[in-house]
Amino acid sequence: MALIECTDCGSQISSSAKACPKCGAPAPKKNEPDPGNIFCPFCRTEVSEDAMICSGCDARRAYTRSGTRLYGKWQSIGFGIILPLILMAFFPPAGIILIPVMLYVVYRLIRGPVWYNYSDL
Ligand SMILES: [Zn+2]
Ligand SMILES: [Zn+2]
Repeated sequence: MALIECTDCGSQISSSAKACPKCGAPAPKKNEPDPGNIFCPFCRTEVSEDAMICSGCDARRAYTRSGTRLYGKWQSIGFGIILPLILMAFFPPAGIILIPVMLYVVYRLIRGPVWYNYSDL
């Protein structure tokens, strides 16, 4: 956890504090998140690099999405790769149709999770 300087009174405050404990001024927004953290693109709340939900605005991160359902890494692998592979083994014509889906899921897994604004879903 890093320390930042209050823009009002100059005292050192924790980067996770919402306001200065000395003077009550709102904590200045940082330009860079702490190592291992990222900013939520919607509300700029600092969350852990592997957080799948923003604690500030309820935005979600997911690897793939189907309608309003969001899929995490293992769900994406299960529904997007393993399930089509099983289908392909038992019913090759259906499996061939699913190859683009599998390629897309692999691409999304490599690219990493994407933020979704929960109110938009
Ligand atoms: Zn202050
Ligand atoms: Zn947020």
